[in-house]
Formats: sequence, structure tokens, C-alpha cells
Amino acid sequence: MSKNIPTTIPRDQHCISREQIDTDTLKVLNRLHRHGYKAYLVGGSVRDLLLNRQPKDFDIGTDATPNQIRKLFRNSFLVGRRFRLAHIRFAGNKIIEVATFRRHPHDNELPEDPDDHFHFVQNVFGSPAEDATRRDFTINALFYNIADFSVIDYLGGMEDLQNKRLRVIGDPQVRFVEDPVRMLRAIEFSARLDFTIEADIYTAIADHKKLLATAAPARVREEIMELFRHKISGAVLKQCRELGMLPHLLAGYPGTDESIELLAKIDQRTAAGIPIEESFAIAALYLRLFMDSCTQSDSINISAAMLQANEIIIPHCRYFSIASGIRHQARELLIGCFRLARGRGFRAEKRFLQHPLTPKALELFTIWSQVRPDLIDLAENWANAIKTAESDTKRPHHPRKRRRKRSSR
Ligand code: ATP
Ligand code: MG
Repeated sequence: MSKNIPTTIPRDQHCISREQIDTDTLKVLNRLHRHGYKAYLVGGSVRDLLLNRQPKDFDIGTDATPNQIRKLFRNSFLVGRRFRLAHIRFAGNKIIEVATFRRHPHDNELPEDPDDHFHFVQNVFGSPAEDATRRDFTINALFYNIADFSVIDYLGGMEDLQNKRLRVIGDPQVRFVEDPVRMLRAIEFSARLDFTIEADIYTAIADHKKLLATAAPARVREEIMELFRHKISGAVLKQCRELGMLPHLLAGYPGTDESIELLAKIDQRTAAGIPIEESFAIAALYLRLFMDSCTQSDSINISAAMLQANEIIIPHCRYFSIASGIRHQARELLIGCFRLARGRGFRAEKRFLQHPLTPKALELFTIWSQVRPDLIDLAENWANAIKTAESDTKRPHHPRKRRRKRSSR
């Protein structure tokens, strides 16, 4: 549990140097400090710097209230309805987030409606010790103090980092019930950092995994996309399957071996530097299920495939409130893969070859062929056909017009 007196690791005993910290973030930290406020780097950035990894973003924690932050920085504004958080704007639309230290509210302070708890919990100001304790894992609760460049450790996160061990702050049985998304985050961080998971985490997941289905869909959606962005969707969803979490996390996703293998290939594509779009991720998740549902029927045609795609994609998009543009694109990718899988020579092939989404569908299909070698030749054949179609459309004269002239002669 939290100690009010933390372990302080002085500058010469840890590896974080100011040179690794973004310069605008340093400006904000220094300005808060010069005005007498506590100014800490918090959360994932401290963890990543200590692990010699590049942080995704640098978040700041302070004892200044949102209004005090607002007054101190001309370029700042407060965001959120009830979420009192300061955003400080820098050149190039860059935003640095500054949050006042918060604490977990006492039971008698919580709103009556449990649905409001998550937001409420985020908005009660507290001490640095309390702010550390409300976080999820010990390694996510380290602070870097700009006043003396030390690392402040209230919960033993440094030792856990050294031992590559993921430990929940407090009792996982309580913390997972309080916020079920933490179960997914546990698997996510262990995969990202290659950390072992404490036994009590597995027990609590086994006991409370069903609660994942009660978590706010928007938060689950965001964490799932984080899996894709961090190139760990295959590894994490595989573990979720083994731990029995999948049906509560993604009700329609069966998580077969082949589909998990496909996700691992998609992760390799992201690792190669291709940004992952949500429509592509959704199509990848459901591709195998969709193709299976299509081949079950003997006389499947395009309109039947469209119905199948809808049946699979719509429930996912409805549950996670996914915009129709993304839904439409995911569905088109699936139907594109269906057309590719059934082979060459069907009606309207020319139009299909020139359709703007066809290259993306072929990209997905080609990745699929990496786990289904029987499809490799077909994928190559289509790739050549698309290339030819592209060079045809680039020709200066429209071939159709010419043909019409000739026939009229
Ligand atoms: P990333 O590199 O993905 O940004 P991160 O650790 O910064 O990793 P975020 O999701 O950005 O993760 O959250 C920032 C910090 O907020 C975390 O490090 C953690 O301290 C805290 N936090 C996030 N989600 C939760 C949660 N569900 N419960 C408790 N604390 C959380
Ligand atoms: Mg972060």
C-alpha cells in the first residue's frame, strides 16, 4: 500500500536525463517549479525513460489547481466537462497535458450512479502519495521530480521495473472490480514490456473477467486500438483467449488460431511503419469468421457476402459506437477479400480492379496469404492484374472512345 514517505532515487542513481525529455514539457515543468508548485513527470513517460524506451507522450502532474495552471500559462485551456485538466498548447498543434494530483474518493463521496464512478474518481484532488496510489500498476506510478531530478517511488515500482514484474497497486480483486479495463491493461503492459504477471493478477482475472462486458465500450475500444498501435494485438488477444477473457471483451470475435496468426502478421506490418487504421483492424479481426460464413453456403454471391459482412461488422460497430465511415470501409475490405478469394474472371472484375479500396483489400488478403500459403499464387495474380489496370487507366487516350469510333465505321 502507499507509504506517505516515498523512496527517492537521486539523479546519479537513475538513468533519466533531461536531454531525453521533450523541450516544451521541460519548459512547463520548470515554469511550474519556479512558481513554487510541485512539478513531476508522471505515468508512462517515467516508466519508459527508465526502461530506455521512447515515451509516447509526456504527462505532467502538479499540486497547482487547474485554475492556477490556467493563470500561469497564457497558452493553456481547461478541457473536459467534469474532467478538470489543463492543456498547454505549443507550436504545431502540440498539446502538453497537465493534471492536478488526484486521489481515490472515499466511499461516502461517490455519486449514487455507479456509471459515474469512473469520471468522478478522476476529479478529486489529492497529494502526490494519493495520486500514485490511484494509478493501476506500480511501474505506472513513478514520478520524476524537476526540482532535483530525482525519481519518486511510493509503491516499489523501481524494484518491479528491475525485476520486469507487473504488479497491481493494492488488491487486484478490488482494483479490477473498480475498473475492469485494468485486466486488459495488465495483459497489454506485460506483452508490451515483456514483464511477468503476478499470480494474484491471474486469479483476479479468472474471478472477474466477466466484468469486462460491463466496462464502458469507448474505453475498451480505445485499449483495443492501443493493442494494434503497439503491435501486440496478436499476442494479447491470444492470451485473452487463453484466460477466457475474449467473450467478455469482444463478444463476436472467436479468436481462432488462424485469425490470431493473421493479427500477428498485421502487427508486423505496423512494426514496419505502416499506421494501422481502425477499419483495417476490424476487417482483420473478423476476416476468417467472415470467409467461413461465406463458404458455408454453396451458392454464395456478392449480395449474400454483403449480408454476411453486415451480420458480422454491424454488431461490433454498434456496440463500440463506431462511425459509419469506418464501418463502411471495414465492410468493403471484407467484401473485397471475398472477391479476391473466389478468384479471377467473375462479372464486373474490371470495375473491381479500379475501385479505390481494392488495393487495401489486396493488402489484407496478401497478409492473410502469409498464414494461408494456398492463397499466395492468387494474391500475386491479383496484384499483377491491379498493376495492369492501373497502367491502363493512366494511358493518355481513353480506349473506350476509340473503340466506339471504330465500330461505328
Ligand atoms: P502509453 O505509453 O500507452 O501512453 P501510459 O502508461 O502512459 O502508457 P495511459 O493510458 O496513457 O498509459 O495512462 C497514463 C497513466 O494513467 C498510466 O501510466 C497510469 O498511471 C494511469 N492510468 C491509466 N489508466 C488507468 C486505469 N484504468 N486505472 C488507474 N490508472 C490508470
Ligand atoms: Mg500515456
